[in-house]
Amino acid sequence: MKLYNTLTRKKEVFKPIEDGKIKMYACGPTVYNYFHIGNARTFMVFDAMRNYFEYRGYEVHFIQNFTDIDDKIINKANEENVPSKEISEKYIREYFRDAESLGIRKANLHPKVTENIKEIIQFIEELIRKGYAYEVGGNVYYNVDAFKDYGKLSKQSLKDLQVGARVEINEDKKNVLDFVLWKAAKPEEPSWESPWGLGRPGWHIECSAMAQKYLGETIDIHGGGGDLVFPHHENEIAQSEGCSGKPFANYWIHVGYLNVENKKMSKSLDNFFTPREIAEEFDLEILRFFMFSAHYRNPLNFSRDLMVSSQNALERLYNAKNNLEHLMKNTTEVSNPEEVEGFKERLSPYKDKFIEVMDDDFNTADGIAVIFDLVRDINSNVSIATSKDGLEYAYKILIDLTGVLGLLNKGEDTLDKEIEVLIERRQQARKEKNYALSDEIRDTLKNMGIVLEDTPQGIKWKRV
Ligand code: AMP
Ligand code: ZN
Repeated sequence: MKLYNTLTRKKEVFKPIEDGKIKMYACGPTVYNYFHIGNARTFMVFDAMRNYFEYRGYEVHFIQNFTDIDDKIINKANEENVPSKEISEKYIREYFRDAESLGIRKANLHPKVTENIKEIIQFIEELIRKGYAYEVGGNVYYNVDAFKDYGKLSKQSLKDLQVGARVEINEDKKNVLDFVLWKAAKPEEPSWESPWGLGRPGWHIECSAMAQKYLGETIDIHGGGGDLVFPHHENEIAQSEGCSGKPFANYWIHVGYLNVENKKMSKSLDNFFTPREIAEEFDLEILRFFMFSAHYRNPLNFSRDLMVSSQNALERLYNAKNNLEHLMKNTTEVSNPEEVEGFKERLSPYKDKFIEVMDDDFNTADGIAVIFDLVRDINSNVSIATSKDGLEYAYKILIDLTGVLGLLNKGEDTLDKEIEVLIERRQQARKEKNYALSDEIRDTLKNMGIVLEDTPQGIKWKRV
């Protein structure tokens, strides 16, 4: 498997620290608001990468943090006149609600800053001991001049960075690029006891401390959106490698921006949509399909038109799935070993091809193209005369490959069940010559976007 590593600006063969295991950390949201679908792109990419690693047989240990103490949270709490904990707890709950609606699984752990203050303080103390940090008047700063590799991730020299830095009047700092590890408490703000007095952690230190606590000094993969390369990830490297003297992450993965009219979707530009807003018009699985229709490193423009084409494309996949389910239920031929062999030979190359393109830096766009080739092949080669084993083989490949992307999960157990119950009730009504009821059910189904077809094998349904 090859992954593009921001640290080397190259696609590299992926080799985990420990055979068969992956330690992965992604920067999570600052919880002061609902997340937007730009944030969702990044969350979805790591979610699907994790699925894919698991599909390839790795055991993945995946951590995504919550930044639950920050200026933005405190400001929102002041605006609403509530404790900041109330804001962060609310938006953590909402994060899980929205993530679930987008088919994003929970990470193995979602640690919070406020539950790791002790570890953060210890981390900072270690940096001071080693000469990478200094305290001035209750604030602790990272000393970038002490870390010789500063700038290695964003490929900038300390000199260039200094020239470009915003001129800031802070006499306490030795270098304008020094960043805060611990902030002295301001009145009325949440704060914790520390060797430097009351205060709270700066933003960057939390990820270094939590990654080390939960995954160890060196991890396999560290990721986030492209906007985090500098300064956040650059600073994480300075902190973690300063503290441990070892490489922090072997592969740095950054997700391209979700844009609107070629501008990054962001809260500050007010050009964002929340998953809930999208859900008013589209099933959120369509958004997932849309996100994976581009390579994760490329920018992706969000538009209604692209959502509509994603909707149509996803529909074709669902039709293939529904058709297979229908055939499996109705075929009379249970087993035909020769035919199953034929199917294996015919369809397994799609699985190989899918793995080949996904192994090449997680190319979901090509992965989706392979799935469509598979679907075309299945559609033209299965029928009611295909044996159940053959159909099941085709079905399994389709479900496995789409499952990696978190697609085609709506099935028997959810919506399809509902539809089938309605169809059965309608059949019953017809038997009882209750045509008013049977018409009513037909209309309900029609409103759900379902059309019925009478076939010699019974009632068939599809989404339109
Ligand atoms: P935040 O809550 O702002 O820290 O963002 C959470 C995650 O979303 C981070 O990994 C960001 O890099 C990422 N992110 C923010 N905006 C976008 C965007 N427009 N496209 C892709 N990822 C984004
Ligand atoms: Zn981080």
